[in-house]
Amino acid sequence: MSTSPVAADHAPIPDAVALRFQELEAKLRKARPHEDLTMLREAFEFASSRHSSQKRKSGEPYIAHPLEVAHILADRRLDRVCVVTGLLHDLVEDTGVSLAEIEQRFGADVGGCVDGVTKLSRLDYYSTEARQAENFRKLLLAMVRDIRVVLVKLADRLHNMRTLEFLPPEKQRRIAQETAEIYAPIALRLGMGKIRGELEDLSFRFLEPESYQLIQEKIESRRESSEDFLDALKIVVANRLAEADIPVRVEGRIKRASSIHNKIKRQQIAIDEVYDLLALRLVTDSVKNCYATLGLIHSQWRPVPGRIKDFIAMPRPNLYQSLHTSVITDTGQTFEVQIRTEEMHRMAEEGICAHWKYKEDRVGADVDDQRMAWLRQLVEWQQEVPDPNDFLSTLKVDLYPEEVYVFTPQGKLIGLPRGATPIDFAYAIHTEVGHACVGAKSNGRIVPLRSHLRNGDILEIITQTGHTPSSDWLNLVKTSRARNKIKHWVNTHRRKKAEEIGVKLLEKEARRLRVSLKKLRPENLEKVCRDYGCPQAADLYAALGYGRYSARQVLSKLFPDDITTSGQPARPKSAHTVSSGAASDKVDGLVVTGIDDILVYRAGCCNPIRGEPIVGYVTRGKGVAVHSRSCPNVENLMYEAERRIDVEWARSGDLLYKSKLLIEVSDRAGLLNDLTNVLTDESVNISSVESRTNNSKGHPIIEMTIAVGDVKQLDRIVNAMQRVPDVRHVVRAAG
Ligand code: MN
Repeated sequence: MSTSPVAADHAPIPDAVALRFQELEAKLRKARPHEDLTMLREAFEFASSRHSSQKRKSGEPYIAHPLEVAHILADRRLDRVCVVTGLLHDLVEDTGVSLAEIEQRFGADVGGCVDGVTKLSRLDYYSTEARQAENFRKLLLAMVRDIRVVLVKLADRLHNMRTLEFLPPEKQRRIAQETAEIYAPIALRLGMGKIRGELEDLSFRFLEPESYQLIQEKIESRRESSEDFLDALKIVVANRLAEADIPVRVEGRIKRASSIHNKIKRQQIAIDEVYDLLALRLVTDSVKNCYATLGLIHSQWRPVPGRIKDFIAMPRPNLYQSLHTSVITDTGQTFEVQIRTEEMHRMAEEGICAHWKYKEDRVGADVDDQRMAWLRQLVEWQQEVPDPNDFLSTLKVDLYPEEVYVFTPQGKLIGLPRGATPIDFAYAIHTEVGHACVGAKSNGRIVPLRSHLRNGDILEIITQTGHTPSSDWLNLVKTSRARNKIKHWVNTHRRKKAEEIGVKLLEKEARRLRVSLKKLRPENLEKVCRDYGCPQAADLYAALGYGRYSARQVLSKLFPDDITTSGQPARPKSAHTVSSGAASDKVDGLVVTGIDDILVYRAGCCNPIRGEPIVGYVTRGKGVAVHSRSCPNVENLMYEAERRIDVEWARSGDLLYKSKLLIEVSDRAGLLNDLTNVLTDESVNISSVESRTNNSKGHPIIEMTIAVGDVKQLDRIVNAMQRVPDVRHVVRAAG
């Protein structure tokens, strides 16, 4: 560390800045009289010293920016954590102060908020591909665990927009665009009408300077007459309402530049045709008086048909409430009237920020509940909140609890369900990327394929040509897209194997019946396919491979003159080795003779283990089941002899096979120990052991699942166990 930061600690704070801080203190003291403001001063001094060597583009000392951000927050009567975060928000990003130091000095709440704002500042909307505004807004909100982070970020953005003129034009455009597409809509969603309006007008000014200039000029040229007009209306309204004994505060407003611009553009009209260019805002004391006021307005001026809107009965999605109407004066001028209560007014202007006030004022529980409903709706809260007060006091939110947003290395933003894994992501990019996915990097680091994605991660998929998906992946994926793609691949793959097996079965049976497939007439094949409802020969082979039809049956139709369906041997001679060619695939250490990569599995009924005599059986649709020759099911299954297929144990293998033993014993101490010693001698592991006494003789039975290398080892173990004193009987359990 150099010595300059220490020297900076003693750099004097400019008078103007010190004064502005005193104003902040006064503001907060007034707004929140019960809060201890020691931390506020500490934060200000800390931030001043760390930013002291920096200047803004405007030439002001840097601290002026966080100080103004704090003012914007204090104006909304937000709490100390918010305002302090405003003062500290740029320290981590711009001065290298560590988050740990901030936490240690100002506590976990402030630390968490500063961390949140820093993370949001690092998101670069402008570099995301095709600038997906909706997804980016969701990502931003999904990253936030404390709604105060969003409020500080909005205040930060507002001040940056107010001082945007000092930046180079290219940067102005970028920031203005981000503001228009991301931050103004977020402010709208949070009901913060005032900040939203200012953000929109400022963006408009920098994005379309000429249009902005034009509209400004039009507003200015009408300003004097507009204001006179509004003043006259105000007097009329105030008198009418006073007569009716309705308390009211009347404000006049000229529509904002960006709103006028949007309306003119959308409706292709001139500025004088904008019916709500001028508006009166009437703020009264109760809902009842809102409607009474509406009645009086309509008795004074003629309403424009179809322009009456009751947002009190039907609030907007962000819970904006007011009555709107447009009326026409005798001279034919239109203006809008907005009628609302004080409370609705605060909500319209400050939205979510209004909560802090209510929280402090300790209003009744039912009002709190209303606020809760509002907040819940705002953030699309989808889970039950056990205790609304608790929720408000912690201010912890999960704005998009069901979703997670991650970037591709090219900056494209992809939204996935929570719990999604890199495999989901890979399939979201492209099916082929999914199929060939062998690994993933998150933010440059290798992560397991089963890991869950986190908001804002930059994900890179590692692929390998020729890699294929595994059905195990079905347990790892969360999206239906990935699930369907994997399933589809697995099924297609199975089908290819079935075709292969079908052809082999047909060839084998043809040899046995001494007919030559080479002599098969194409028109015969076509006809037989039609008979079986198979569009193509491949479909027929697949059906054979799945065991749907028997090869003999098909052959007798293919060669009606050579084969009769009756008088065939009831049972074939011992099965031939199917075809030639090297057997290579090993599943459970099994090989189907002559067919590469065939679908083989150990039948659950007998669970054959290496070394046992085995036989394969083409099942209906599941490939080849391998049974022990001694399995009682084999006799029953083998009546369709053409489905029988030769299989053998692969020559070498270090696989272990699970096998279950039932050991009937006479109970005695130390018996289990003796049994496990047998296994220790064979270096065999026990997967599970259980004992029960439910047989009629009352002898306990120990059920033990062990993993053995082959049947010889199993035989040795069974024999050794049978020699253990008090062991009555040892059998291998089926299944
Ligand atoms: Mn800032």
